[in-house]
Amino acid sequence: MNIILDLFFPKKCVGCKKEGSYFCQDCIADILQTDLICPQCGNLSIGGLTHPGCERSFSLDGLWSLGIYQGSLKRAIQKLKYEPALVRDFAPVLADIIVYYWKKYSPYLFDLVRKNKSQWVVVPVPLFWFRENKRGFNQSKLLGQILSKKLGLDYCDALKRIRFTRSQVKLKSEQRRKNIYGAFEISSNYTLDAKPYVLLIDDVWTTGSTLRECAKVLKKAGATKVWAMTLAR
Ligand SMILES: [Zn+2]
Ligand SMILES: [Zn+2]
Repeated sequence: MNIILDLFFPKKCVGCKKEGSYFCQDCIADILQTDLICPQCGNLSIGGLTHPGCERSFSLDGLWSLGIYQGSLKRAIQKLKYEPALVRDFAPVLADIIVYYWKKYSPYLFDLVRKNKSQWVVVPVPLFWFRENKRGFNQSKLLGQILSKKLGLDYCDALKRIRFTRSQVKLKSEQRRKNIYGAFEISSNYTLDAKPYVLLIDDVWTTGSTLRECAKVLKKAGATKVWAMTLAR
């Protein structure tokens, strides 16, 4: 069946439109790896760990991003957001790339998770129900589900968005923080006691206000470690 489908609807690279795969080797190689940053101050940090001096009571413990938001990765993320027909086929490809790069370049977080698999849970940044219904899916949720399977971790929709927020795209850093303040809540039947370490998934890290707000809610509910993981920044 797949062979017939491939014949009529050949796979095209999301980065360069070359036929044969959803993301070609050239475009994967084009993903720009740079040094990781502290999610609190934005300055360079080994392993993406929050600097000891930047830690606050409910802050993120670290940030890992696959690459920089440009070129083929940027085009891939845009496809993931706006082409639902492609998403189910393409998200597993992206998850494979994440795991591959993660092992290769980020032994710190990789080891942290591997050592204590039973303590970790994968949690996506939720969309407001209206937006998710309109789009038909939440790309961070889908990616989180696939990633958790590949990594052998539990998955949970631990957060919900309790109010509609304006798009953050055109807002400045301080406006973003205010816009997203109080937008999330823990899902009613969920407790973090059994899984205190959270891998929080989103597609793009811009100023980090959304992910920091999610971390605050998770930690207030009992999470003891929250790492953000995004496709790009
Ligand atoms: Zn390509
Ligand atoms: Zn810092």
